[in-house]
Amino acid sequence: MGPNISFTKYPAIPPGYTLSSVECPYCGSDSRVLDSRGGRDTVRRRRECLACARRFTTYERLAPSEIRVVKRDGATEPFSREKLTQLVERLARERPVARKACADLVRGLEAELVDAGLATVTSSQLADRLLARLGELDPLMARRFASNYLGEDGTVRTAPPNQPSPQLSFPIK
Ligand SMILES: [Zn+2]
Repeated sequence: MGPNISFTKYPAIPPGYTLSSVECPYCGSDSRVLDSRGGRDTVRRRRECLACARRFTTYERLAPSEIRVVKRDGATEPFSREKLTQLVERLARERPVARKACADLVRGLEAELVDAGLATVTSSQLADRLLARLGELDPLMARRFASNYLGEDGTVRTAPPNQPSPQLSFPIK
C-alpha cells in the first residue's frame, strides 16, 4: 500500500485550522499558495512570493495534538490521531469507505475538539463525538463501534487488563 497521494488545487482546510502565512525565504514578503498535495500526514505546497514572485515549496505537518484524553480509571494519555485512525479503519473493514474518509473523519473530530477549546476530553465524550461522525459516514460502522466498544449503559468499555489498549481504553477486536 503506497502513500495515499491526492491532488487538489484548492485544498479543503478543516474548520478550526487556518492556513498560516508563510514568508518568502528570499525577501521575507508574504506568499500565496499555487497548489497543494496532501499525503497521509503532510501537505506539500507550492508557493509564490507576492513581492519578488520567486517560487518555493513547503512541507507542512500538523503538530501532535495537545489534547489529553481522560480514561475511565482517571489516567490521561495524549489524543492520538494515528491510533484513532487505526480504530476507524478497523471499523471500515469490508465497507465501501475509503481510507481517506477515515483519516478525514479523525481530522474533523480533532478540529471539533480544538474548536471547542478543550484541553481534556473524557473517553466517553470522545466516544459520543466519534459515534455521531461514524453515523454520518456509514451507519454500519457506527453500529460496529457501538456494539464493540460501548457497554449496555452506553459508556466506553475498558480493555481487559491482559490486552494492550490501542487507544482510549477501547478493547481490541
Ligand atoms: Zn520574495
